[in-house]
Amino acid sequence: MQKRIFGITGREVAVIGQGTWHIHTAGRRVSVAAIQSGIELGMTHIDTAELYDGAETIVAEAIAGRRDEVFVVSKVLPQNASRRATIRACEQSLQRLRIERLDCYLLHWRGRHPLADTIAAFEELKQQGKILAWGVSNFDVSDLDEAVGLAGEGRIACNQVLYHLGERAIEHAVLPWCEKHDVALVGYSPFGQGSFPRAQSHEGQVLDAIATAHDATPRQVALAFLTRRAPLFAIPKASRLEHTTENARAADLRLTDQELARLEKTFPRSGPPRSLPMG
Ligand code: NAP
Repeated sequence: MQKRIFGITGREVAVIGQGTWHIHTAGRRVSVAAIQSGIELGMTHIDTAELYDGAETIVAEAIAGRRDEVFVVSKVLPQNASRRATIRACEQSLQRLRIERLDCYLLHWRGRHPLADTIAAFEELKQQGKILAWGVSNFDVSDLDEAVGLAGEGRIACNQVLYHLGERAIEHAVLPWCEKHDVALVGYSPFGQGSFPRAQSHEGQVLDAIATAHDATPRQVALAFLTRRAPLFAIPKASRLEHTTENARAADLRLTDQELARLEKTFPRSGPPRSLPMG
């Protein structure tokens, strides 16, 4: 499994990780087994959140006895992101996950609490050793600038954003910003939330042709494109074993410059968005 440095944490983290939103719908036993297989295949970057109904307890079961192998990320809801409630939310996530420390703790999206208060809580959690690092999610450049203005350079580990072949809005400004500031950019919903190109479509056929050349699958091609360079990471969610296996194998796929150009042309990005799209 390909790894790369996760921004300012200095930690080598699996480029393709595992999301856990709605993972419980497959049933506890199946979802625990899917995450465990993913870990065995190297997808040790695990994304969860207090929002994701029961997912943290499923992750707890999946990572029991192998804490040192995994990089665990969770998120505080905006309505809990006051100075005191952020600390409490983190402690509750740690309890549900049955671990002593999160590798990265994110603000899920911006809400009514002042960002300064959330950041102060994140820094306190870091000092207490309850988190290794903190980051943000669904932050546009103006939010990122504000966060750096408050926290200083070298404090934000990552920004987690919507990114798939049909939604490349982050490439206009957020990706260059993250490159410049050494912030890991983690793309969520890499398969487009149910809108993955159908095999019969022109887009599907292009993906299929590139996949065939590598003895790979269209979804593996998509993941390879979405993680084609630093600081990009992807966190597909899979509760079926065959999906987990397919996603993990994408990490070893290297697309040629011509293939990347063909994908760029087939999935053109739209103009700069007024506001960052969210899933
Ligand atoms: P996704 O990963 O793009 O898609 C998940 C769907 O794709 C599931 O139905 C899954 O099926 C299917 N799938 C996975 N691998 C497949 C494969 N190889 N072949 C065919 N189908 C496959 O969508 P997502 O769950 O929205 O996004 C991923 C993660 O990002 C979430 O789980 C969550 O951790 C994170 N996220 C974060 C935010 C945020 O605001 N920060 C928002 C949304 C999501 P099975 O489950 O049946 O295997």
